[in-house]
This record gives sequence, C-alpha cells and structure tokens, in this order.
Amino acid sequence: MARFNERFLDLKESYLFSEVAKRVSTFKEKNPDRDVIRLGIGDVTLPLGGSVVQAMHRAADEMGKAETFRGYGPEQGYDFLREAIARHYKEIGADIDADEIFVSDGAKSDTGNITDLFSADNTVLIPDPVYPVYVDTNTMNGRNIVFINGTAENDFLPMPDRSVRADIIYLCSPNNPTGACYNRQQLEEWVDYALANDAVILFDSAYESFISDKELPRTIYSIEGAKKCAVEFCSLSKTAGFTGTRCGYTIVPKAIKSVSPDGREMSLNKMWNRRQTTKFNGVPYVVQRAAEAVFSPEGQRESKAMTAVYLENAHIIADTMNELGVRYTGGINSPYIWFECPFGMDSWTFFDHMLEKAGVVGTPGAGFGKNGDKWFRLTAFNNKENTIEAMKCFRKLFD
Ligand SMILES: *Cc1c(COP(=O)(O)O)cnc(C)c1O
Repeated sequence: MARFNERFLDLKESYLFSEVAKRVSTFKEKNPDRDVIRLGIGDVTLPLGGSVVQAMHRAADEMGKAETFRGYGPEQGYDFLREAIARHYKEIGADIDADEIFVSDGAKSDTGNITDLFSADNTVLIPDPVYPVYVDTNTMNGRNIVFINGTAENDFLPMPDRSVRADIIYLCSPNNPTGACYNRQQLEEWVDYALANDAVILFDSAYESFISDKELPRTIYSIEGAKKCAVEFCSLSKTAGFTGTRCGYTIVPKAIKSVSPDGREMSLNKMWNRRQTTKFNGVPYVVQRAAEAVFSPEGQRESKAMTAVYLENAHIIADTMNELGVRYTGGINSPYIWFECPFGMDSWTFFDHMLEKAGVVGTPGAGFGKNGDKWFRLTAFNNKENTIEAMKCFRKLFD
C-alpha cells in the first residue's frame, strides 16, 4: 500500500472561516430581523479597472484569430509583463532584472511552492501571528518551525533574536493580519541577520501598494544586501483587484547562491526556473495582458483609486479605535486593523459579543496564531457606508 505523507496529520484543522460562517448563520436564524455588517472580508470588493478590462478584451480577441492566437507561453511569463514589473520595481526603489522576475498565478502558490527549493532539515522562522500558509506548507514538508512572537510590546513587528539560528525566515510587511509595517532600519536588521546566518528571507509584499508613508520600504530590495538573501513575493490580488483573475510575481535574485555538501555552486534563481518549467505552464496570455495594463500609467491611477477607497475605510476604523482608546496596529499603510479585544475578552468571546451587541462580524485573532488570542482583525474591504455604520454600532459596545 502506498504510504501517504504523514506530515499532513500534523496540520491543525483550519476551521477559522467555517466557524465564523457557522456562528453568523446561527445568529441570523435566531435574529432574522437584524442586519449584520461584515468587516471580516479578506477579499477585495471593487471591480477591475476599466483599462485592465479593456486589455483583457483585446487579448481575448487576439486569441480568437489565427494570426494572433497564442498557445503555450514561456513558463516564467511573457517578456512584456516581466519588463513592466521590472520598471515598477525601479519606481519603488529597486533594480531588478527581468530574468529575476517569475510571473505566477498568485502569491499563495509561490509562497508554498518555494519550499521545493530547500532541504527538509532547514529550520524555519515564522512570525506569530501571521498568514497561515507559511506554517501549513512547511508542516506538510515536515520542517522544524520556530516561532517569533509578535506582541503589543514590539508593535507586532518581531525582530531577529541573535541567539536563535534559522535558515529560512518568513516576513510579511505590511502584515496580514496585523497591518503592521517594518521600517527601513528594521528591515536592515533582518537583512543583516540573514546574511550573518547564511539564511534566506522569504518576503511577502502582497500589500506593498497600501504603503502611503514615503519613508517606509515597499520592497525588501530597497535595503542594501537584500539581493543576496531575499526572495520577494507580490501579487496583483490586493493591489489591483486580481483575487479572482489570478496573477502574482516572485523575485528570485541571481545573487542568492549556496554550495552543496560536495562543493557544487547552487543558484536559487536557476533552481526556481527549473522548478517552474517542470511543474508550471504559465499564466494565461489574457491575464498577463491584463496584468501588464495594471502597470501602465492609467492602470496605476485605477489601482491607486481602489487602494484609496480601502485606506479611507481603514482610517474610519482606526479613528474609532483612537476615539475609544482601544490599542491597535495597522489601519494606516494597510487594509487591516488589528486591535486588542476590549473588556479583557478572548477573541472568540469578543466575536460573539460584537455580533450579538453590535451586529458586526470580524475575524478572531486566535485564527492567526497563539499571540492573536486576545486580538481581533477588522478589514477595510466593505464599502464606506457600511464601514461608517459598523463603527457607529461598535461605539455602542462602550456606552
Ligand atoms: C492575499 C494575500 C496574498 C495573495 O495571495 P494570492 O494567491 O496572490 O491571491 C499573499 N500573501 C498574503 C499575506 C495575503 O494576505
């Protein structure tokens, strides 16, 4: 009999969103006349930009004509898109070559698939709380995971601990779920630590376009030395509304090198290229043309307008927390507000309390790691009207 990968037995049951849905539907059955406002949405709600949709239409028409039809494309992505992404990196302060850019169907797959490139006996450092994909994919591979604590004391921005040895380090900034964002000096410290330990940083920048503070780095490659030790994952999901369209990109610099035990040089860029050409056949042409349009001046205006709507909602939530004296992170350079549950409640108790008393739904922090037990996530992806109404109801909890 085939032996299955028993490491799957080590995965924690992922019941967060199903449990939220269950509690909301029970509440609605008991209270059919009460409205519920959802500020737990982890998905974008605004439609794609007009110029992006037009580019998709044009590409679809090309696919319908013999002269312009395209079959298999390059696994790494078409040059027109890789070059557009390279130009985007220049604008946000980093020099990246087009052949260091790999187009994919999103950052979730890439942050998971990258584990193929590393030996199973590496130690992985993962912040807690964080996006659950990093923990689960490394658990599937049976890697040793060490957590670093995000707490109120470090503003949910854990820093390297020199006494801990790690080979692979996951960082997500601006962070999901905490909305916290590393500054330049903090990222410099992480890069120094990685270089000193011969470690690789896996940097998730899915929310880079939400950074409005000009002093904060939008890519880890704006930090000196990062090209020798960091892989960066980004996605058009949150930045341009591509959660259903599917397109992301991963930067694997050519300068990240290692030596095998028998003395042969290994290049992470070459290995990722080999991995992708073996296991992946590229993103649809139509989607890549849409992604290219995101990086045009008109596409950038459209994306900025979307982000501005979400950021305004985030500010409305953050202002309410300020007014009520509730401790929080995020809400400024991020669509997430992460706050300490009031009244000494744990996050699931507060979930029920807020639903019952205010009719507002959010996401309990416990779903993102043990340090989230007494914390709670609200998102800015609902519309302005509902966000204002939700905050009115939220204030009533404090009357
Ligand atoms: C939403 C999100 C992504 C994007 O994933 P896609 O697969 O590109 O949709 C990546 N990382 C984090 C932390 C996210 O929240």
